[in-house]
Amino acid sequence: MNKPFAPEGQGAFELPALPGEAYPLAAAVPPIFQTSLFTFETYEDMAAVYAGRSHQLIYSRGDNPTVMEFERAVAALEGAEAGRAFSSGMGAISATVLALVSAGDRIVTVRNVYSDAYRLFELMLSRFGVTVDYVDGTDAAAVAAALPGARLLYLESPTSLMFELQDIAALARAARAHGVITAIDNSWATPLYQQPIAHGIDLVIHAASKYLGGHSDTVAGVVVGSAELVGRINAQSYAYLGAKLSPFEAWLLLRGLKTLPLRMPRHMASGQAIAARLTAHPDVERVLHPAYSTHPGRTTLAGFGGVFSFEVSDAIDVPAFVDALRLIRLGVSWGGPESLVVPALAPLQLQKANCFSRFGISPRLVRLNVGIEEVEPLWADIAQALEHARR
Ligand SMILES: *Cc1c(COP(=O)(O)O)cnc(C)c1O
Repeated sequence: MNKPFAPEGQGAFELPALPGEAYPLAAAVPPIFQTSLFTFETYEDMAAVYAGRSHQLIYSRGDNPTVMEFERAVAALEGAEAGRAFSSGMGAISATVLALVSAGDRIVTVRNVYSDAYRLFELMLSRFGVTVDYVDGTDAAAVAAALPGARLLYLESPTSLMFELQDIAALARAARAHGVITAIDNSWATPLYQQPIAHGIDLVIHAASKYLGGHSDTVAGVVVGSAELVGRINAQSYAYLGAKLSPFEAWLLLRGLKTLPLRMPRHMASGQAIAARLTAHPDVERVLHPAYSTHPGRTTLAGFGGVFSFEVSDAIDVPAFVDALRLIRLGVSWGGPESLVVPALAPLQLQKANCFSRFGISPRLVRLNVGIEEVEPLWADIAQALEHARR
């Protein structure tokens, strides 16, 4: 089912064991194939593989069995034909975009797309003659108006920091009508709560560093889609950019994936409980959580991640608030078991130097990653920190 990387002329290599079937020595979990290369018995064996007459793994920058197991697992979860894993979410994003666009092409994306995807577009692709239009993704008509002549529609629903939703089913239809390939960053919702391929999206990308891994111990990425499009990524960028996933990290991700259906409901319930209390708090102006949205993009979400933002009132000193938190630690990233907070103020101060140009982000915005701790101690921590930070 998967179509892994193969040099020119070589067919797809099919691993005999599918997930859940027998591993070597009847091991319950897949072994870590910690090897950079795979050897050939004879010259004729090697020549046959290069000529495409037979199939064998060659080198782990291309295919590695432990990594392939992870690729197959995510493809299966997203209802995709094939997948390709990377050493980071940005590895997946950059290899996907670079496989699909050429000089003179235009990308349509949403405002408030993930910060480093924005930097990839602004600082790198612009140097290679690719232009990018940033549209209000909540407005399906505005997105549709930008589509004629575009090569790629790159979505993220909800968006980073602002949690703006897109009507991905409607946008996928509009893109298809204009012959535009669609890709979405589905890291927040995970395949448990949003399955974009079922709604007509072509490629689904995950920062596996977040919920798929789920333990704050791995940086990784993955893209899944049709065998044809993943084959294009394999042929056009994957092996040459070289951001391959390590076998050990693939193994950690396979381990993390097993508890995804247990972790996500917990993140969701705790996130909603904290969001509800913040909504009622006098020092909170607004809570940016898709649970409070009536946007059509809500309908493709079967559940919510535990990451959302809120804006504190003028009465709250943001640095004092984050410094007063004891249980919730200050740190980027999200999706792990421990709760974390990021004030938008810090990246906003770097706006120019750091290429952090964003739409409508308030310096009083704080992003919260609700982990799997008990809700009461988390809420007590937030409440005491707000109290402490009131000027
Ligand atoms: C973290 C993140 C990424 C990038 O993933 P890395 O593994 O850090 O490269 C992409 N998209 C979103 C929404 C993210 O939060």
